[in-house]
Amino acid sequence: MNTVPPVNLTLQYQQIHDEVSTAVQAVLASGRYIGGTIVEQFEQQFAGYIGVSEVISCNSGTDALFLALRALEIGPGDEVITTPFTFIATAEVISAVGATPVFVDIEAETFNLNIEQVEAAITDKTRAIIPVHLFGLPLNMTRLMAIAQSHHLIVIEDCAQATGAEWNGQKVGSIGHIGCFSFFPTKNLGACGDGGAMTTNDRAIATKIRQLKDHGQTSKYCSEFVGVNSRLDSLQAAILSIKLKYLDHWNQKRQTIAQRYHQFFSHLPGITIPQVNSPATSVWNQYTLRIDSPSTSTTISLRDQLRSQLQQQGIGTMVYYPIPLHLQPLYRPQGDHAEQFPVAEQVAQEVLSLPMFPELSPQQQDQVIDGLKNCWEKIKNFKSDCL
Ligand SMILES: *Cc1c(COP(=O)(O)O)cnc(C)c1O
Repeated sequence: MNTVPPVNLTLQYQQIHDEVSTAVQAVLASGRYIGGTIVEQFEQQFAGYIGVSEVISCNSGTDALFLALRALEIGPGDEVITTPFTFIATAEVISAVGATPVFVDIEAETFNLNIEQVEAAITDKTRAIIPVHLFGLPLNMTRLMAIAQSHHLIVIEDCAQATGAEWNGQKVGSIGHIGCFSFFPTKNLGACGDGGAMTTNDRAIATKIRQLKDHGQTSKYCSEFVGVNSRLDSLQAAILSIKLKYLDHWNQKRQTIAQRYHQFFSHLPGITIPQVNSPATSVWNQYTLRIDSPSTSTTISLRDQLRSQLQQQGIGTMVYYPIPLHLQPLYRPQGDHAEQFPVAEQVAQEVLSLPMFPELSPQQQDQVIDGLKNCWEKIKNFKSDCL
């Protein structure tokens, strides 16, 4: 049986194997492993790609978010509004700088922050909003920026899953005050290890971040404040420069696969396909369905049944994310949050991310489509027999 993995990174590497080998060997031979022109070149290329004047590379997407908050001097006593339906890093960094994450529920259709509810969460302690362009789909940045501006709030875009995605013709990461990117291997632009970057058009913020990520040094061996050590390796920068050239092509392939999935899954009763809110273009870091899971019907949700049946057919799926952040042990002690964010809680029971990577072949796509249709039919029939 041919299996379909949720993601496969070796196929992409094979396409650029020669280019990468040459570039990596050049770095190794140069003896310059930290910083230098390779890293600067990548920062410039990425700035050009996103459409900003400043790019500051760093060790990871988590560090990027952390450094952005530190640069804005957000800390104890401050509140930062974000979504409970994201990877833990988004909220964790808010806590790490000593500020308080304030969650706002999401929209089931897009999995993104419900902007209608943002305004009600703003207090006189609110300093910033961290929207997440989840699964590669941009948030309505026009509305969010309008709200932020009217309340004098800073917007830090979590672009970790959305490198190359656009809102109204503008790349995410160029719309808010700071954009934070991850080059974790499975992201749309993935390194062969950890990496991250911040984007901004604000020169003063960029200068502050460059100092923060380098031990708070304002000049060599002269530290003015507590910083961190967060760097993008030269080897990773060399690899990312190569991959950046192919990013649009790879993102288009993801879009083609998403169209195909849409076409076949939009008519299955009980299954909801992800919505794209115009004028957004998604780069489909994940293709995530919602599987109707009425909580009363069975002990094992229909989503989990479908997932295990697909697994038996060799089709790998993922659940991003099974526990919303406000229900994580880390945040539960802050109060009784039960049912506080009903949409995020419901969606966490329903989401199923299908295999999605640019190299997913038409045969594999067919296997996913046929497999899912068959399994779903079986589950639905079995269910109606039982009821
Ligand atoms: C991956 C991810 C991060 C963290 O990036 P790392 O490079 O793994 O530190 C932050 N936010 C979101 C939404 C992510 O998907």
